[in-house]
Amino acid sequence: MRFSTRAIHEGQEPDPATGSVTTPVYFVSTFQQPGPGREGRYVYSRTANPTRTALETSLASLEEGRYGLAFSSGMAATTTILMLLKKEDHVIAGDDIYGGTYRLFEQVLRNYGLQFTYVDPQDPSNVEKAVRKNTRLIWIETPTNPLMRIVDIRKVSRIASKAHALLVVDNTFMSPYLQNPLRNGADIVMHSTTKYLGGHSDLIGGATITSDTKIQERLRFLQNAVGAVPGPMDCFLLLRGIKTLSIRMDRHTQNATAISEYLAKQPKVDRLFYPGQNDHPQRDIIKRQMRGAGGMLSFQLKGGLDMCKKFLKPLRVFTIAESLGGVESLIEHPASMTHSSIPRDRRTKLGVSDNLIRVSVGIEDIEDLVSDLEHGFRQI
Ligand code: PLP
Repeated sequence: MRFSTRAIHEGQEPDPATGSVTTPVYFVSTFQQPGPGREGRYVYSRTANPTRTALETSLASLEEGRYGLAFSSGMAATTTILMLLKKEDHVIAGDDIYGGTYRLFEQVLRNYGLQFTYVDPQDPSNVEKAVRKNTRLIWIETPTNPLMRIVDIRKVSRIASKAHALLVVDNTFMSPYLQNPLRNGADIVMHSTTKYLGGHSDLIGGATITSDTKIQERLRFLQNAVGAVPGPMDCFLLLRGIKTLSIRMDRHTQNATAISEYLAKQPKVDRLFYPGQNDHPQRDIIKRQMRGAGGMLSFQLKGGLDMCKKFLKPLRVFTIAESLGGVESLIEHPASMTHSSIPRDRRTKLGVSDNLIRVSVGIEDIEDLVSDLEHGFRQI
């Protein structure tokens, strides 16, 4: 079956007990057992819940993996993955990752004895050079957040296998519709399902997908032991969102492409970052590992923080808010919002400058989006 069919049907067969066409929401904490002992398929909802099972089956199918796990947030998924490691293990991470992931690594997991090195993985040789004897995991995002840099998953996966380290790809920005990292050698795909998979800015969730049985068994054990599981209603909302993922992603991409073309001609824009640009320096990798450029872009204004404030304030269709991937267009200032937990000197070094603006392009009518931006530009 192809993607859109799988998104609608995988894990979501009509309920055998009632014929219900949509997956029932099992609001239940515990399940009757046939006798003493833990014999039933379902025992306790932290361990497994039927609505969550449907979601996990769907996620695995969409990412072309054998197993999926759903978590209560993207950060819960990330934390659980990192718990595969032990004290004094070393992690190599991209230097342009989501600020919350960096905060978890630096301000929480370092205290538990994990070691972290950050490199620019656009050049895979930087990853190779950072490998140590105790390197156990490589963490990348591609496109990176917020500068939309592309990492060659296949090349980094070869470095990871040589080092006997796991490669984890945070695939939140692309969604499984536009990129499947397991195909290119990743061991685990991680998602903040809060974003495109949910698609309606109405839930917080996370996911892991793998095809490796041992990794899955360990993740499932950790998920149950640590307990960061989603409730059945959030699982249901995700299943509902997933059914329209392909048409939403097509429209996000179409709108973002049109906006990038508009911004490219705007005299007040200094630099534009969008994987769909025709002259993108990494277009060969983009063609190889992505099926579209997606709905995220960022740009630098010819000015500083004050100019960004003046530009953002009058916008009416774009909402100033963190997060991304919903049907509505969001706009934000990474230096003071999503990336404010990254120290200023590190932010500046990475290019997350005070004049950078990040956009999650929604699926509204493109004419309204462009005229809203036009309105912002007239104020500066
Ligand atoms: N990864 C990326 C790329 C994100 O943008 C986010 C959240 O913004 C996360 C992970 C964390 O996910 P959550 O907010 O669902 O915990």
